[in-house]
Amino acid sequence: MFFASGKTGLAAVCDVCGRHVTDAKEADIVWFPPTGGDKVGDTFEPFITCKESCNRKFEERAAERGEAFAHFYTQELNVGLVWLLQNSGLMPLGGKKMKEAKRSADFFDSIS
Ligand SMILES: [Zn+2]
Repeated sequence: MFFASGKTGLAAVCDVCGRHVTDAKEADIVWFPPTGGDKVGDTFEPFITCKESCNRKFEERAAERGEAFAHFYTQELNVGLVWLLQNSGLMPLGGKKMKEAKRSADFFDSIS
């Protein structure tokens, strides 16, 4: 995302309304594993929605397209981000790898 400060960075944006998510507890990650997509290494495209109205609209649009709700998954964005950190090898939060990543992020923020 390009921010008003002139900086750029990763940000969560609702796939329904386009709003920048600034509170991860107020958004969900939704994904539809393909039929038979249950093998180790299978990947799925995630979608981000605001909770409640946008999540409901997303589900309605998916139903109109005939998406398989038998394999519909949703998770709060804050929980999903913890899993992303875990699966990216950055956990624990106060660990060496996380501290190194934070130092790098702070450095790049200071020079941009
Ligand atoms: Zn939204």
